[in-house]
Amino acid sequence: MISRFLSFLSLLAFGAAIGFSWAVMGDKQPQSLYLLLGALLAGLAWMLIDAWRGYRVRSWLRHGDLAMAPQMSGWWGVVLDRARKLLRDRERSIDAGEQRHKDFLSAIQASPNGVVMLDANAQIEWCNQTAATHLGIHPERDVMQRVGNLLRDPVFTAYMAVEQPVEPVVMAGFRHRMERPVRISVQRHRYGEGKQLLLTRDVTMLEQAEAMRRDFVANVSHEIRTPLTVMSGFVETLQTLDLNAEEQKRYLGLMAIQAVRMQGLVEDLLTLSRLEGSPVPSSVSTLPLSRLMQACELEARGLSDTISQGTQPQNIQFEINPLLGEAQLIGEARELQSAVSNLVSNAVRYTPAGGSIHVSVDQGVDGSLLVAVRDTGAGIAAEHLPRLTERFYRVDRSRSRESGGTGLGLAIVKHVMQRHGGSLSITSEVGQGSCFKLIFPHNRWRLNA
Ligand code: ADP
Repeated sequence: MISRFLSFLSLLAFGAAIGFSWAVMGDKQPQSLYLLLGALLAGLAWMLIDAWRGYRVRSWLRHGDLAMAPQMSGWWGVVLDRARKLLRDRERSIDAGEQRHKDFLSAIQASPNGVVMLDANAQIEWCNQTAATHLGIHPERDVMQRVGNLLRDPVFTAYMAVEQPVEPVVMAGFRHRMERPVRISVQRHRYGEGKQLLLTRDVTMLEQAEAMRRDFVANVSHEIRTPLTVMSGFVETLQTLDLNAEEQKRYLGLMAIQAVRMQGLVEDLLTLSRLEGSPVPSSVSTLPLSRLMQACELEARGLSDTISQGTQPQNIQFEINPLLGEAQLIGEARELQSAVSNLVSNAVRYTPAGGSIHVSVDQGVDGSLLVAVRDTGAGIAAEHLPRLTERFYRVDRSRSRESGGTGLGLAIVKHVMQRHGGSLSITSEVGQGSCFKLIFPHNRWRLNA
């Protein structure tokens, strides 16, 4: 400011000197008048130039475009520098704020949960793609639309009417179809001044798992209750009636059958839970195929003899391709044994007296190993085939129970095969018989030890 004042004074002095010299050279009187006039004109020129520079600065400040800033020296130059610095700082902080905003929005976009921001009138301000997919709203087109106009599910309408909801509400999602249900949980939170946040979550799998768990518990309870009821009936009979030794023996025999049934059920349940909880079977331990087949054959013949007592015996055959005589299965011996033994025992149990059971082991064209269990039993109608491996699914409930079935055998087989990277294929024809085939991939067996 002082330098500006000094430069103004020097200009006045310069003007006065010019005016004075002019008067001396032109012999003009009075000289002091010319001196004053010179100083006045110099002052006027200074003010005009200063006003022009000030005008340029003001015009630039109107848009504040840093690239168009005028170049000046002196006092206005300093003002320009300061203004430029301030603008630059402001631009930087706006950029940082915008970046933060963008990062925040992309973090919410990446969230597996849906987020909808509503203003005080329940109009959509913003929503992420997940919420859009869950609720069927458009992230851009539906901005400023009232959410209640877009989502007309009565469950949602009732939920939005509650002042302070505590629990989330679960409703049908946008892609919900009868054959493929989609369930979405929506939770509302208030924030800011009357604003609301809707958080959405796909709970379809959760609900399905919960339903499966409920069914499973109900099934297990039912399966255990039946033999228990029978047993307690026998106990009551033994307690109340005065039975002779022969009758007592018969009742105790019947009770033993029920106890064995419960034992089988508990064992199968434990096997299933072991299969679910244990790591993928090792690729180091092996089981000789011939040993597995011998054990299963022994078991099959024993079971067949027990079942067909006094009736025509079943014809049981085990056949291994001679090239696979030394073959080894790679995996958990106990699980592999249980898979084959379940299929063989089913074949024996569901094939009437005099029928045939044929177990064969061969190599598939793609390098897989096939263990096929064929029988000439009653066969299974096509509509049951996709559900056979579900827990407790039975085509004929009474037949299964009579023959000591738990309804878990094929579920165990499927699980074992999945864990070994293989699969179970089932073909059957009613009245003709069935074929259950275990397919082991090439990395789960080898030709010799
Ligand atoms: P279960 O203990 O009842 O035999 P599984 O899971 O082993 O249970 O089998 C499920 C159902 O599949 C059985 O109840 C039976 O109806 C049917 N099934 C299984 N194997 C055969 C077979 N070889 N022939 C006919 N039906 C079979």
